[in-house]
Amino acid sequence: MADPSKQFTDRVVVVTGASRGIGAATALAFARAGATVVAGCPALDADDHRQAVLSWREGAGLAPEQVAPVVADVSRVEEVEAFYEVVENHFGRVDVLVNNAGINRDHTLAKMTDEEWRAVLAVNLDGTFYNCRAVLRLISDGGRIINISSMVAQTGNFGVANYAASKAGILGLTKSLALELAPRQITVNAVCPGFIDTEMTRGMPADVLNGYVDRIPVGRAGTPDDIAATVLFLASPGAAYITGQSLGVNGGLYTGD
Ligand code: NAP
Repeated sequence: MADPSKQFTDRVVVVTGASRGIGAATALAFARAGATVVAGCPALDADDHRQAVLSWREGAGLAPEQVAPVVADVSRVEEVEAFYEVVENHFGRVDVLVNNAGINRDHTLAKMTDEEWRAVLAVNLDGTFYNCRAVLRLISDGGRIINISSMVAQTGNFGVANYAASKAGILGLTKSLALELAPRQITVNAVCPGFIDTEMTRGMPADVLNGYVDRIPVGRAGTPDDIAATVLFLASPGAAYITGQSLGVNGGLYTGD
């Protein structure tokens, strides 16, 4: 009988922004569940990023063929296209794409520069679009696309208009693409994490950070593994009838749609 803990055996899974945080936890969870993982890392300081992937791969005792770091800055269309050429040459197809790479450049709108606005839209929204479009010719029927949005796409928040706009854009993209790909039994869903303990949130002042955690009904910040588990569920056969949805993973911090 097949080992249920290896339910992604023979599946090719692409995770963008897999050098650390939620992306690394997700890539690791897929690899442990038997998948062949392509761990996307940005081209800037490529050696450092590749090294970060190699380091968590080695720490987890995984073999080189289980996790392959491949460089692409998701905000650069030509790098994303080249990334999928590498994936096609080495693996032939993609079964699951997780668009996880993301950045924040927080400022109130009055102080937000054009560069801060454009940088966040370029990585978070353009990057998701470029990856979704490029993977279309490679993704197998019955495949999965999972886009990491954010709770702030649903609620907004102080000082994050660029980030919230980019993440809300991902929700619209997700719903539209879900309709386009449904005839091929490919599902497209978004995950909306709340407050997750990663480098992205650790940069906040301690009083702001503690203030957030105090308001979370389950009494703790989320972990990258909380998000990874949700992504693996959405990629599993049991989630075949879920598409065009945004799933909040926020410890009860926001209970709306
Ligand atoms: P993180 O620790 O800052 O990791 C972000 C990842 O994205 C890193 O691997 C980073 O690589 C990569 N990345 C950044 N720019 C990139 C680019 N241009 N091309 C390719 N990869 C790039 O953040 P995280 O907290 O794990 O967040 C992961 C995702 O979850 C993001 O989309 C974020 O918006 C979303 N999210 C996070 C939270 C939270 O509370 N943490 C909440 C809601 C949503 P480098 O090593 O180069 O930085």
